[in-house]
Amino acid sequence: MTDSLKCEQVPYSALATEYGTPLYVYSQQAMAAALNQYQQAFASLQPLICYAVKANSNLSILRYFAQLGCGFDIVSGGELQRVLLAGGDAGKTIFSGVGKSKAEIEFALNNNIRCFNVESLAELERINTIAASLDKIAPISLRINPDVNAHTHPYISTGLKANKFGIAYQDALAAYQLATTLPHLKITGIDCHIGSQLTDLSPLIEALERMLLLVDKLAEQNIELEHIDLGGGVGIVYQNENVPDLAAYATAVSQLLSGRKLQLMLEPGRSLIGNAGGLLTTVEYIKQGEEKNFVIVDAAMNDLMRPSLYQAYHNILNTCPTTADEFVADVVGPICETGDFLAKDRTISAQAGDLLLIQSAGAYASSMASNYNTRCRGAEVLVNGTEHHLIRQRETVPDLLASEIACL
Ligand code: PLP
Repeated sequence: MTDSLKCEQVPYSALATEYGTPLYVYSQQAMAAALNQYQQAFASLQPLICYAVKANSNLSILRYFAQLGCGFDIVSGGELQRVLLAGGDAGKTIFSGVGKSKAEIEFALNNNIRCFNVESLAELERINTIAASLDKIAPISLRINPDVNAHTHPYISTGLKANKFGIAYQDALAAYQLATTLPHLKITGIDCHIGSQLTDLSPLIEALERMLLLVDKLAEQNIELEHIDLGGGVGIVYQNENVPDLAAYATAVSQLLSGRKLQLMLEPGRSLIGNAGGLLTTVEYIKQGEEKNFVIVDAAMNDLMRPSLYQAYHNILNTCPTTADEFVADVVGPICETGDFLAKDRTISAQAGDLLLIQSAGAYASSMASNYNTRCRGAEVLVNGTEHHLIRQRETVPDLLASEIACL
């Protein structure tokens, strides 16, 4: 390994020197390339690609995807505020999630979003009531749970009967019938999202087939849909997974949609940003425990929750030239939890002061970060060629304490 390890043309070591660590680093070119792959694969269908904001909601990231023509998939009023602030188009924004509050629905209606992905009958009624009070018609799509096994980690599998998401497949027709009776709703589509980090895309195709059966049954009842939304879920390579075949997925979708007047929508998150980002962290200490070695770094589970939450694997590279021997160690953070680890039993060569790069940390990393242990969230940098821009300042302890009240 040499210190020439770079993000685009910028050495990681230079970024760490300028901005400190832990530091999230994103490649603009990698984001554009990932989106381009979708645009090329699905070119014949001209889909509306709604970037899933939850994957990484930094304003500059959203602004860049907006500039590239993306719409957005949001799951909260806060995410809608981000999209609007970033210059995103509300008319290309869809609102998913099982627990939309009254205030969030009102805010979304007042901003004329593209549609609500409705997840329950109670939500249908709530949106109708709020739309009536605002004298508006709410565009809605029903999120159907197609009961397809996505074969992914149980915590990111969402399309099974046991999951809290969507309307049960067998209840879908009745739910659409109910929607037709609610005067302040306009039925525009159908959607599903069966899970995340799918490396075999065949469950997505199975879900589409099942949804199209419903589309046909709805048409028999004179309920004509304008769009079909297949959600996100396309996986990325973290370790040695199969590279998901986006082109084959697109071909299968094109065949299944051919002859139909349904606009395709997609909600990718991880596959647009996951491998465009990394997390830089500095080694604080090497510790030889009784049974294990530990590489203790300045990033922790609050910066990258995925290993603790899902036992997720992230590849780790040492950006510093080193002749030190390799050893097997857990890479851990300073947080006072045994669950605070970034890697387990990893063969690594590292010494105190080295700069490590945790790869594939563009998605579900900074957006899931917390302040546990009163740790300040890391800075974020966007790299484009030889240029780099700070897109989020490192938090300070006064930032964290500003909203707290010591009343006694
Ligand atoms: N759409 C919905 C409703 C989601 O819940 C998610 C994330 O799980 C996504 C899209 C994005 O999924 P992914 O990042 O796997 O593409």
